[in-house]
Amino acid sequence: MPELPEVETLARGLQARVAGRRIVSVTLRQTDFMDDPVAIEQELPGRTIERIERFGKFMLLRLTAGEEPPEKNATESPRPSRGQRGHREKNGKRTASEKAAGVEGIPPGKNQARDDGDGTESSTSRENERALLVHLGMTGNLAPHFAGQPLAKHTHATFALDDGRELRYVDPRRFGRMAYLAGETLAAELHRFGADPLLVTAEEFAERIRGSKARIKALLMDQSVLRGVGNIYADESLWKAKIHPAQQGAQLKRDETDRLLAALQKILQKAIEMRGSSISDFVDAEGLAGDYQQRHKVYARDGKKCFRCGKTIRWMVVAGRSSHFCPLCQRAPRRLTGRRKKAKRAGRVGRSKR
Ligand SMILES: [Zn+2]
Repeated sequence: MPELPEVETLARGLQARVAGRRIVSVTLRQTDFMDDPVAIEQELPGRTIERIERFGKFMLLRLTAGEEPPEKNATESPRPSRGQRGHREKNGKRTASEKAAGVEGIPPGKNQARDDGDGTESSTSRENERALLVHLGMTGNLAPHFAGQPLAKHTHATFALDDGRELRYVDPRRFGRMAYLAGETLAAELHRFGADPLLVTAEEFAERIRGSKARIKALLMDQSVLRGVGNIYADESLWKAKIHPAQQGAQLKRDETDRLLAALQKILQKAIEMRGSSISDFVDAEGLAGDYQQRHKVYARDGKKCFRCGKTIRWMVVAGRSSHFCPLCQRAPRRLTGRRKKAKRAGRVGRSKR
């Protein structure tokens, strides 16, 4: 599953390639991973993609208010608040199709001065923030294509852009999520998530980790504690910081959480530099694979030698996920050591298969 470095790589690529483009029309196919496909179809046409941001493990395509100047609304029935679904039935469909019809045939870029940068939106922009949230799940990808290019299999959403290209969402397994969110709904959604590991201070990180009896591996991956870290970067940073994945957060000392955060940040930054880890077919907005998987020290290296001490890397299930670690560099918590010995006598430990 793409984690922070992969999503960051993709978001940067999209920012460079499609930011500033207006969405002309939307075509959806399989929609079972979308919160409200009708809202996506109705709300996106006519809006400009202001910028693409990573938030935790997903992307936010920040969208403008749309292209209708506010004065125009006075002559019509009041424009419905886009966050309120009840109004949409009355007005949304017509508005969307009108908008789509309006922008077709207009040369790329010609229509932009009307809705972009004229400041009419700024006073109410907080409440009127809107975005398309895209979570890639296991196998999702969002990338621009020329409209003439044949559709790849498993293309579930196509956003036609005003320059003739199409932003296409392809996802064979559909474990991802797509949602149009605005105003309060958007704010509430983002509020559920913890700190960004690249921005969090050592102080706050220590508080979040040491305040819990959950295992450190689980805490690192808990998106309400820290947003963006998954299995790969949790394992890698724990190995680098020499902390066992089954250690309880509350039992870590302050110098250990400091070490862990430093390791995590260093690894994430290096991974972003190397355009992420290409596990399960991850590619960026240009279709290029990442290289960081070549730097993995423990992830999926069970049975191989530890780069630091030469001991054989093992794995165990922590927090429901296979966790890779060096049994010598990353000392097991005492409780676990006892259990392990018992299990070993019963012949339940030592079989190495992921
Ligand atoms: Zn080792």
